[in-house]
Amino acid sequence: MSLLTPNQVFSWMSRLSAQQDYQSLTHEFLNILQENPCIDEASGYEIYNHKRKISEGVNVDERLIRRFPLDFTKEDDVTDNAHVSDASHVIGISTSHTDEKGGYSWAILTVKGGNGPDRSILVEGKLDASSLKTLQHLRGIYQNLVILHDAKERDVLTTLPNRQSLDSRLMQVCQHYCDHPITDKIHDKSSWIAILDIDHFKRVNDNFGHLYGDEVLLIFSQIMGRKFRYNDFLFRFGGEEFVVVLNLATQETALTAFNRFREAVAEYHFPTVGKVTVSIGITHIDNAAMPSVLLDRADKSLYYAKEHGRNQVVLFELTPELVSEEHEHDDDGEIELF
Ligand code: GH3
Ligand code: MG
Ligand code: MG
Repeated sequence: MSLLTPNQVFSWMSRLSAQQDYQSLTHEFLNILQENPCIDEASGYEIYNHKRKISEGVNVDERLIRRFPLDFTKEDDVTDNAHVSDASHVIGISTSHTDEKGGYSWAILTVKGGNGPDRSILVEGKLDASSLKTLQHLRGIYQNLVILHDAKERDVLTTLPNRQSLDSRLMQVCQHYCDHPITDKIHDKSSWIAILDIDHFKRVNDNFGHLYGDEVLLIFSQIMGRKFRYNDFLFRFGGEEFVVVLNLATQETALTAFNRFREAVAEYHFPTVGKVTVSIGITHIDNAAMPSVLLDRADKSLYYAKEHGRNQVVLFELTPELVSEEHEHDDDGEIELF
């Protein structure tokens, strides 16, 4: 890395700034690092710090380190990398001890400041003082771009990924099931999409004001973070609606997970506001359906839950009225060739 030409530097800047989202930015950043002969391996991590209340006034810090990119088809992508964990307190760059020639075997670039999780990039290889200087500059540029992408792709209040991020993530999940169709929709572990809508939320705003309404949304998103697993994808869809893509679950475990969340919300005592409930509409991520069809099925299930008393979970595939209604629409005006 010591003999960088201006062309090389401009080419890197151009490649990084061309990326449309955080995922592709991070892939490109890792590629650029890996192209350097002094680097053997570059890997990305996301660090989630949660405060968990264990009793009145007593909070414990919990940290989860997730490998980038998350493989939602594998159970164990949680990492226990001691270097990454230790370095996550440092802002900037931390390194291994120097060897006898003054070189380093690894460096960790930590990125903070966006409205998403902290990120760490672990670089392993044969690094000297000049490569560290270059890494320091690259870290700064990567951090600025991560902050910009977080601002675009995440919701400011809850810091969850927003609607725009859902669209690209859902395409990715659908593509996976298109390429690897599952055979048993009920018993195989697969993915489920749910829309979660807070019940009578307008009343919260009307009775207590928007500020308390916002606090409910924030706490609601934190309960989501605690009740779903690290390999599920959580989003703020808009207003008081949230989306969960639940992975690696059978139909039964999906229903259990969403009911457990619904109960956790119903039992929680929200400051000032008191009790709040949620209705949830779920559908299976079917390898034959487009993302728009899946969202429509989840939405119809949600409205069915609203019409049938709220504070409940409705699964599209287990609701005969919804399934037959869709079939009727399919038959309307469609020309069947065979
Ligand atoms: P339902 O049980 O049928 O879902 O009733 P609801 O009152 O929750 O639904 P409705 O769609 O009538 O009202 C949603 C309300 O959510 C209206 C809007 O004022 C409020 N809202 C949307 N976004 C925000 C936000 O960011 N902050 C706050 N405080 N309120 C919001
Ligand atoms: Mg709504
Ligand atoms: Mg609502």
